[in-house]
Amino acid sequence: MPLERIEGVLEVQDPDVGQVPLVFDSPHSGTDYPPNSKVVAPQAALDSGVDLYVHELFGTAPSHGAALLHALFPRMYIDPNRAADDIDLALIEGVWPLPVNPTEKSERGFGLLRRLVLPDVPLYGGPLPVAEVQMRLDRYYRTYHDTLVRLLDQRLDWFGAVWHVNCHSMKPVGNAMNDDAGVKRPDMVLGDRMGTSCDRAFAAFVAERLEAEGLTVKFNDPYQGAELTHAYSDPVAGRHSLQIEINRGLYMNDETFERTAGFGALAAALDRLIGSLAAYSMDEAGRL
Ligand SMILES: [Zn+2]
Repeated sequence: MPLERIEGVLEVQDPDVGQVPLVFDSPHSGTDYPPNSKVVAPQAALDSGVDLYVHELFGTAPSHGAALLHALFPRMYIDPNRAADDIDLALIEGVWPLPVNPTEKSERGFGLLRRLVLPDVPLYGGPLPVAEVQMRLDRYYRTYHDTLVRLLDQRLDWFGAVWHVNCHSMKPVGNAMNDDAGVKRPDMVLGDRMGTSCDRAFAAFVAERLEAEGLTVKFNDPYQGAELTHAYSDPVAGRHSLQIEINRGLYMNDETFERTAGFGALAAALDRLIGSLAAYSMDEAGRL
């Protein structure tokens, strides 16, 4: 299995035989913290923002012919699932040379750069120099995006269409930074940007396979999908992106961050899902 690794940045498993038009990416499961003296948040708070184990849950994707990309850097460092201009300028020291477009995510403290790790827990003790933020954008954010685009474009070229699953985890109950504070969440939330980032049949197929595994599924509530589901999707052009948020309560202890006994059963269910999706993507591409 060819393995591409850029130390501290990302890893790609891209099968060289038996490919299918299917790409999985896990942008938030990285845990390699680059040294940064400005960070003041406690390590446990930093770790709570990681989609821990998510790339491992989808670890059999390459054996089904799908590519699997995952970030090695943490989303607290720079978040690949935000627009590059979703920047809170209060976090930058000096004059930022590019236009910014801070969304409500930056306002709530989790834009491209995090202000808050958890409600009322700031990440940094002071602003970051312009050059530091530019380095993070170039070396981490853009490298991640460029790699994802390459994997998607290759498959679009080979098969005429590509199906992309953007993989995440969610806390079992929303906190004060979330839209659904205090609400108990289902096992899985599928986000298709309210029906715009992929063929509805694809989202429905994934939901049906998950429900057949006994899992509860909701669409677009509270997560509709963010930058990585939005940026490269174009269902009319054969580019389908779907976000999947997995309830951490199924496979890990959200206090100790340890895997629980449910991990193996969930990984097996996801392996069956990936196998079904590999067949689905080949069938659909064969119809083009
Ligand atoms: Zn995530």
